[in-house]
Amino acid sequence: PTVRRSWLDKLRAGLRKTGSSIAQVFTGTQIDDALYEELEAALLMADTGVKATEFLLEDLKKRVKEAKVTDPAAVRGLLAEALSDLLRPLEKPLTVGEHTPTVMMVVGVNGAGKTTSIGKLTRHLAEAEQKVLLAAADTFRAAAREQLSVWADRTRVEIVSQEGGDPSAVTFDAVVAGRARGCDVVIADTAGRLPTQLHLMEELKKIRRVIGKAQDGAPHEVLLVVDGNTGQNALTQVKAFDDALGLTGLIVTKLDGTAKGGVLAAIARERPIPVYFVGVGEKLEDLQTFSAREFAQALLE
Ligand code: GDP
Repeated sequence: PTVRRSWLDKLRAGLRKTGSSIAQVFTGTQIDDALYEELEAALLMADTGVKATEFLLEDLKKRVKEAKVTDPAAVRGLLAEALSDLLRPLEKPLTVGEHTPTVMMVVGVNGAGKTTSIGKLTRHLAEAEQKVLLAAADTFRAAAREQLSVWADRTRVEIVSQEGGDPSAVTFDAVVAGRARGCDVVIADTAGRLPTQLHLMEELKKIRRVIGKAQDGAPHEVLLVVDGNTGQNALTQVKAFDDALGLTGLIVTKLDGTAKGGVLAAIARERPIPVYFVGVGEKLEDLQTFSAREFAQALLE
């Protein structure tokens, strides 16, 4: 329970950073237009976005009418329910075991927390007795390869890496090696930015195709790592990567330092892709499964 509390505390501390906290909206004595206007502003401040904010306000007004509440404090509870219901479709565990190996392709712009999240995910899987193989398909950045090697050492898993190689060739080799070595999971790290003139999405599509050639039906997961601290930008990235690659899941990082976590509501409303994990810090244990109810509570505190 102490571990659980500490991550929720980090999440709360981050989300609470907003100047006009959402909870403050409900400290008055009346449920009137002013309350809803203040709430609208607070939700937008938390990067919930126009569409999700409108949806939540309409939904909330219905709930208030039905429940016949007159106390603003009770409205807060109803909003928590509305938000939790909106976020619930994002709640889905990442499952492995159906394929040997399960191939995961991890994408995201540089700095989003991709390598760190892969390290955390690898440890999580290794602890569940899964044999993991990492593929360093960001062959453009030496630092990215090195960083992934450090994670491989730390989590004691194997890694396929090649200096300056072709990203799809490295990935292909890794998937083939993963099958030959009886691995349960192959995780391919990819570039978040390419040297000029090359197009990231085209490169990633090529990697995706090549993975399918190495193993029928793969990749089984295309995961996007997005920085929750970038608010509405995170939604833009979700849409762009999903349009190009067809995402199966998200890892939303840096929710420990942000007041913009409302973007998850925007994602739920506009592009509901499962949030397999949320990142609430730089340590290995700071990757947590997403709970709609807990997140809604934390955002409204
Ligand atoms: P990449 O370029 O996408 O591979 O990003 P990195 O994994 O190198 O992460 C970039 C920075 O963000 C590093 O300093 C990480 O320690 C940090 N980081 C990653 N995830 C989190 C998180 O959930 N919370 C915080 N506070 N920092 C994070």
